[in-house]
Amino acid sequence: MGQAQEQEFKQLLKEQYIYRETLALISWDMHTCLPKKGLEQRLETVGFLSEKLHELQTSSRMKELIELFKEDAADRVLQKSALECEKIYNKQCVIPAKEYKEYVMLRSKSEALWQEAREKSDFSLFQPYLEKIVEYNKRFANYWGYENHIYDALLGQYEPGITVKTLDEVFPKLRKELTTLLKKIQESKVEADSSPLYHYFSEQNQEALSLELINRIGYDLEAGRMDTSVHPYTFGISQSDVRITTRYNENDFQIAVFSALHEAGHGLYEQNFSESLKNTPLAEASSMGMHEAQALFWEGFIGRSKAFWETNADLLEKYAPAGIHTLSLEQIYHSLHAVKPSFIRVEADEVTYPLHIMIRYELEKGLLTGEIKAADLPQIWNEKMEEYLGIRPETDREGVLQDIHWASGDFGYFPSYTLGYIYASQLHSALSKTVDIEETVRQGQFSPIKQWFTKNVYQYGKMKKPLEIIEDLSGEQLNPDHFVHYLNKKYKKIYQF
Ligand code: ZN
Repeated sequence: MGQAQEQEFKQLLKEQYIYRETLALISWDMHTCLPKKGLEQRLETVGFLSEKLHELQTSSRMKELIELFKEDAADRVLQKSALECEKIYNKQCVIPAKEYKEYVMLRSKSEALWQEAREKSDFSLFQPYLEKIVEYNKRFANYWGYENHIYDALLGQYEPGITVKTLDEVFPKLRKELTTLLKKIQESKVEADSSPLYHYFSEQNQEALSLELINRIGYDLEAGRMDTSVHPYTFGISQSDVRITTRYNENDFQIAVFSALHEAGHGLYEQNFSESLKNTPLAEASSMGMHEAQALFWEGFIGRSKAFWETNADLLEKYAPAGIHTLSLEQIYHSLHAVKPSFIRVEADEVTYPLHIMIRYELEKGLLTGEIKAADLPQIWNEKMEEYLGIRPETDREGVLQDIHWASGDFGYFPSYTLGYIYASQLHSALSKTVDIEETVRQGQFSPIKQWFTKNVYQYGKMKKPLEIIEDLSGEQLNPDHFVHYLNKKYKKIYQF
């Protein structure tokens, strides 16, 4: 391979990176501070830049260079970049342009209809659009190809290496354990509820507390910032500019603090990709689930631990109202671990959350294979909620219509949320072999943890698939036992069973 070709390939990768960086910056702006009247013009700009990026990703020259570099083992980063570019190329080129355009239009109509249906709590308004979206996704899955199950084609877009076969083994096992644990918690005499934490806590003080906390765990505020948005999110603009957002409720400070820790977890991942991945498509998370695992680790495993609030008691005293900072450590810890089945996924606790995901997974799979008809969704949804969580939604709004994912055509995405918990627990177990996590956190020493993650997870970006990361660390495949063990140990103490 000539040097000129290498230069050309690197240059093309860099140009694509610049478009992605610009689009991410615009996206941050749109979510945080864009004036309402600026939206229309900005959307035109987004359309223009996206088209340019698409042209670069799918040009015939790009295809030639992909072929040339995907076999070249001399430079691993270039080779892996070529393979990643090939994935993007195939994903975009295999769908006929006309069909894709129709789909994009259908999707925006479907999102609008979903919104209306949700407001009116009437699934029948959304149903015909959902049917069409499912049909398109079936067609796309067939274009992309799969070996065993049509759903694998969609799942693979978000979670490379994970298949229906794996999930069908792991999810039922996990479900059994979670429902058993939930039953024990519900039967316990101990009642943990969050209400001791509900005190007026000014937004300004919540912001100051959140900033100090994320700074302590190692999120680099000189390579990022924290703003406010309706849905907390992480905007990886470049490795040296990873911005997060949070949201506030002045009567429940948990929302802001745990959103900030969650997003800072995502942020830590993106701030610590290896320098060698700069300007390549590999400077991204290994998968959606692995990204989620980093957020859940810092939010849940660290942020909700007793040691974390012990070491950060000084900050609570500095910023929190007296009603909160005079609570005992034990009271705070208990209040942070209220478990109760609820209808809305995004409000669920860590014990019941994965059960919400399993319901969606089973329904998506059934829609894709045709075993479930869209018209039957509300009823099957409610039945499964009753079976898994023991509660039955009264309305479509708090049932089948609560998430935007299906309206946006994001089939195959939901499992990543539960995989995030499983990966995080496996990483937590691996970390605990070299670091005394509780003691380290109690001393406020977060850097050994961050260093471990940088060395074993963060730096690789997309160089490794999620299960390669897990296997290299533990020799294991996907194993839900670590998550089950972690939850049982923790809740056993809190609920005394
Ligand atoms: Zn997240």
